[in-house]
Amino acid sequence: MAILTKGPRGTQDVLPAQSYKWQYLEKKVMEIAGLYGFREIRVPTFEHTELFNRSVGDTTDVVQKEMYTFEDKGGRSITLRPEGTAGTLRSAIEHGLLGDALPVKAAYLLSAFRYEKPQAGRLREFHQFGVEMLGSPAAASDAEVISMVFHMFRELGIEAQLELNSIGCPTCRARYQKALHDHFAARREELCDTCKDRLERNPMRLLDCKSPICQQIGEGAPMMLDFLCEECTDHFTQVKARLDAMGIPYVINPKIVRGLDYYTKTVFEFVTDKIGAQSTICAGGRYDGLIEQLGGPSLPGIGFAMGLERILMTMEACGSPFPGQPECMAFIGSMGDAAGAKAAQLVTQLRDEGFWAECDTMGRSVKAQMKFANKLGARFSAIIGDSELEAGTVKLKKMDDGTVTEIRLNADPSEPDSLVQAIYASRLEDVAGALKDE
Ligand SMILES: [Zn+2]
Ligand SMILES: [Zn+2]
Repeated sequence: MAILTKGPRGTQDVLPAQSYKWQYLEKKVMEIAGLYGFREIRVPTFEHTELFNRSVGDTTDVVQKEMYTFEDKGGRSITLRPEGTAGTLRSAIEHGLLGDALPVKAAYLLSAFRYEKPQAGRLREFHQFGVEMLGSPAAASDAEVISMVFHMFRELGIEAQLELNSIGCPTCRARYQKALHDHFAARREELCDTCKDRLERNPMRLLDCKSPICQQIGEGAPMMLDFLCEECTDHFTQVKARLDAMGIPYVINPKIVRGLDYYTKTVFEFVTDKIGAQSTICAGGRYDGLIEQLGGPSLPGIGFAMGLERILMTMEACGSPFPGQPECMAFIGSMGDAAGAKAAQLVTQLRDEGFWAECDTMGRSVKAQMKFANKLGARFSAIIGDSELEAGTVKLKKMDDGTVTEIRLNADPSEPDSLVQAIYASRLEDVAGALKDE
């Protein structure tokens, strides 16, 4: 019955002890996005298959090989989203957001699905953070979106290099596609089977091929940057000038073509060598014809997405801090029913104050309770038994240095015990001590 106790290939669980890292990352990127005016959008996990065929592109690997597509009980073709842009644009069009104040700025955190060969940091269900900035044709918006990623990576302690390219507009790209086609067609017989097939439909895709022979033939291929029309050249010049003005370092990489069909003009990637050979951890670009292609108004757009699994791997590799790991403040152990009830009162008071507090819920011996308190890493512990109840006091132990404070237990449950105050006082001492040490 291993099928019951092992998740499907290419999926990953985030376990309770690790989830604070995800929470920190998700909160941080959304917070920074908020500083740039991006607000969260939530879109469905599945859409009509046609939406992805139209947007991601019929000739891409994603659409041809990797989508989770099925027929629902109503006979519609449905696809689990392989990325976040298509659904976001569909939503913006459907709800008339593009007829309002422009630009529209939307950010998302979502899971996406691609049937790929699973490998480190590449799963079949993966998670993305991304943004879409809709309505602005100006280079200023390209620079704003890119600078936001730069800001995020700085805050997250991620070391990555920005690589920039322009892949032109439909006008100048047609000339380029022709030149590229001629370049590869000259050695058609040597190309891999996939590329023989792709050559006529989308020659730019050949530049992405991982086969050594295709890469070798691609070495001397013409570069898009040499084919840009005047408008695209101007746009690219302005993007670079704006980034320079903002002090954002970049390199031009004429080989970035991006795997999806919808990009125009600016494309960019953030690349790191921290998780193995050159890995892309954020990718994006401009998609000026896409909104119209999806049935919306003729408006430009730009966006990016980053894979959160890979971002987390990079943060670990860079030794980035992950603040916000939950800390158990106190374990209040007990012996006997009456003491157990008192312990429950005390942890309730602590929880009301916003502290993580625990009491025994397992009917364990005192020794086993203390062992568990250690395992939790509780900062304080106390054990209540009959004698403590009788005396009306209990010893609160600070676990790291063994300091003991005597706490008064109130007979009247409506009056707060002095436990909360004692913990606050001890925490204050810690802070004061830390300040003195500095
Ligand atoms: Zn152009
Ligand atoms: Zn190939």
